[in-house]
Amino acid sequence: MIKKGIGRQIVLHYFIVIFLALMLVEVVFLFAIRAYYYDTIYNTISSHIDATVRSALISTNAADYSEMEYLSQLLGLLKLPEAELQILDGKGDVRISSSGFASDKPVQTSDIPQALASGGTAKWIGRQATTGEPVMAVTTTLQQGGGQVYLARFVTSIEKVNQRLTEITLVSMSIIAGILIIVLIVSIGLANSIVRPINNIIAVSAQMAKGRFDVRVEGDYRYELGEMGSTLNYMAEEIVRSNQIKDDFISSISHELRTPLTSIKGWSETLDSGGYDPDETRIGMGIIAKETERLIGLVEELLDFSKLQQNEMKLTMGRIELKDLLKEIVLNVWAKAELKQVKLRIDSEGEAFPVYGDANRLKQVFLNIVDNAIKFSHENSVIVLHLVHEDGWVRTAVQDSGIGIDAENLKRVKDRFFQVNTQGGGTGLGLAITQQLVELHEGELDITSELGVGTTVSVKLPLLEDGAMSVLPEGETAASAGGEEPKTPEEQN
Ligand code: ADP
Repeated sequence: MIKKGIGRQIVLHYFIVIFLALMLVEVVFLFAIRAYYYDTIYNTISSHIDATVRSALISTNAADYSEMEYLSQLLGLLKLPEAELQILDGKGDVRISSSGFASDKPVQTSDIPQALASGGTAKWIGRQATTGEPVMAVTTTLQQGGGQVYLARFVTSIEKVNQRLTEITLVSMSIIAGILIIVLIVSIGLANSIVRPINNIIAVSAQMAKGRFDVRVEGDYRYELGEMGSTLNYMAEEIVRSNQIKDDFISSISHELRTPLTSIKGWSETLDSGGYDPDETRIGMGIIAKETERLIGLVEELLDFSKLQQNEMKLTMGRIELKDLLKEIVLNVWAKAELKQVKLRIDSEGEAFPVYGDANRLKQVFLNIVDNAIKFSHENSVIVLHLVHEDGWVRTAVQDSGIGIDAENLKRVKDRFFQVNTQGGGTGLGLAITQQLVELHEGELDITSELGVGTTVSVKLPLLEDGAMSVLPEGETAASAGGEEPKTPEEQN
């Protein structure tokens, strides 16, 4: 017995469809073969009739003989081996028969009235009333010059033909039974080849649902089942990977939080212990303020990320001149760059680079990119901020010649919580937030890098066409859009 399920459905459907098709073919075949056999008998008799009736009527003349003599003459001329010939009168009474046996009762089968009505030949298939034997009767009307109407009725047994037909039916039924057994075997095999992998996949996914992500769908399954198995394996790998990233994140964020907290705690204890040296107090307070600032930055990054995840980030849109924004960024990171002796240079082709966006959020985007560039640059190197027009876009590319990223890690740097080196501080959220903010501005973030050569992070934003502001919703314009231009350290030099 096949268990209830897809397997049984497949076997059942296959079986029913093929069974019905074979039955249809069988019925048509049996009808055709029966018609063929019966028509052959009928055609033999009717062509015999065509060939003999006219010559028999011409060579015998009813007027020359008595009726019985005339009829026995006709009988002799018309008779056919293997068929009984009866000569009947217009009422259906058998007047003379080649078997010598004539019933008293008139023949009442349908061929008699049909032959009389048409004046030609008619056929009847049925069982002989006296013997019960299956027969075919072919009757034709014999008429001579307006005289008495006689009927010639040839009766032939179709028992052998029927036997042959039964044999053919049995043989064809056995062939059909054989085909159905083969279909059953093949469809059970097919059903198993589908059901077994599905059961295996179900078992593996049940294990995964219980939290065991080390199990995998084994076996080389084909087509959709193969795809299903590899998708499930891929899902498990992704879950393991994101769990690992989450664990790394928790450990790095704990570290990130603990370092400033330890420092704040240390200094507050020192200050509390009564050392009132004003210089020491100032240094201590400065460190406490700096570390608190760092903690606030960290928490804000986490909050931003959570807002972006929940689509709750609100943007205050307006016209922003990107060149001015980059100058502001350079001023902001100048001190940090100076510590590593890193030079920052803006390289722009053209004057105006207006875009439509949220000034603070775009500043956050570029600060993060430039901050990373400084963090991963070698001392005494140069970071170039390229600004170019590109077919209705403004492209900003921050190019450094720092440590670079290898191809494998490059694919994942935009993933949340991902860091190439988890010891280096940071949360691994910077680029994930940057990417989402750029997307909120309908822009694109692209990173190219080569290990040991350097990294280029490009941000493409739609160029704000002149006059477009009049149709845009009202919003705050970027602080850098007007007013005094800040001077970059490069320009100051
Ligand atoms: P984090 O806040 O930890 O810096 P990011 O998402 O900004 O996180 O960056 C993810 C990782 O990508 C970094 O930890 C670093 O390994 C790599 N990365 C980003 N920018 C650069 C760069 N300019 N050069 C080399 N590596 C970089």
